[in-house]
Amino acid sequence: MTKVAFIGLGRMGHGMAGRYLDVGFTVAVWNRSKAKAEDLIARGARWASSPADAADGADAVVTMLADDEASRRVWLAADGAASRMKAGALAIECSTVSYQHALDLARELRGRGFIYVDSPVTGLPDAAAAGKLTLLVGADPADLEKARPYLVPLSTTIRHFGAVGTGTVYKLINNLMGAVQIASLAEGIAMAEQAGLDMNLVAEVMATGAVASPQVIRHSKRMVARDFSGASFTATLRHKDAAYAVALAESLLSEPPSVGRAAVEVYVRAKAYAPDDDEGKLVEIVSRPK
Ligand code: NAP
Repeated sequence: MTKVAFIGLGRMGHGMAGRYLDVGFTVAVWNRSKAKAEDLIARGARWASSPADAADGADAVVTMLADDEASRRVWLAADGAASRMKAGALAIECSTVSYQHALDLARELRGRGFIYVDSPVTGLPDAAAAGKLTLLVGADPADLEKARPYLVPLSTTIRHFGAVGTGTVYKLINNLMGAVQIASLAEGIAMAEQAGLDMNLVAEVMATGAVASPQVIRHSKRMVARDFSGASFTATLRHKDAAYAVALAESLLSEPPSVGRAAVEVYVRAKAYAPDDDEGKLVEIVSRPK
């Protein structure tokens, strides 16, 4: 039986861990708060007392965590996964982390004799639970082949961008562009409302016209209806991703990334306003009349 440790059972990780149970892997799980693991334990997962305990004997350790700080803690703390992984085991980081963190973590884990695969994801929690994510992979080709049996249960599409870190580079570009689009959409909706347009018509045209990106399609009707149910991607997470992306842009570009910085500023406010709600709620900030 294939043995996998899954660490981080939030909105995304819970469904991803469940996928390994679906396909019959032997699964050990750890999460900072145990309550989120109960149904996985009932389905046959082993509850681990620490990330190290989860990693004990695993062929692969897969993590899905909030940010750099959580990732560092889970992999590298005294009771972290790296303290007890077996030589040659796979370390698969699916969290959206900063580029610098991805490089630092890869260097550290490779130095300890593990195989590191950078694999942030796109797709919402329902796609995570259904094994329908897109994985944005950075890895040596041979390492990707070793990791593939652990990636396939999670995904319908595996995009290999190149060496370790390149998956994270693309993920950060993707999520910064998403932040820009959603922030701009909120302003467009607010303008249309204050100008007295028919908002059903505006929502329909936004979702079908020339600006209808998947983000606009997803958020336009919900913003118009002020429907933020089923929080799937929070203002806190989008702010984190946009800030990591702007730091990367500042290290790569000669010109300051002014559009990206503006989006980060919008999300600073969105995070202060409703940190754990769906990010679309930022329309409530920008829609206040003059
Ligand atoms: P989430 O529900 O907030 O889950 C975050 C996870 O990180 C939880 O397991 C949480 O533990 C853990 N965590 C946070 N701080 C920690 C710390 N200091 N030490 C140990 N564990 C810690 O977030 P999510 O929506 O599942 O997102 C997880 C990752 O996927 C993020 O990097 C996000 O950017 C990325 N992502 C999310 C989506 C989406 O639609 N939600 C889509 C693509 C990618 P507790 O349960 O104890 O709080």
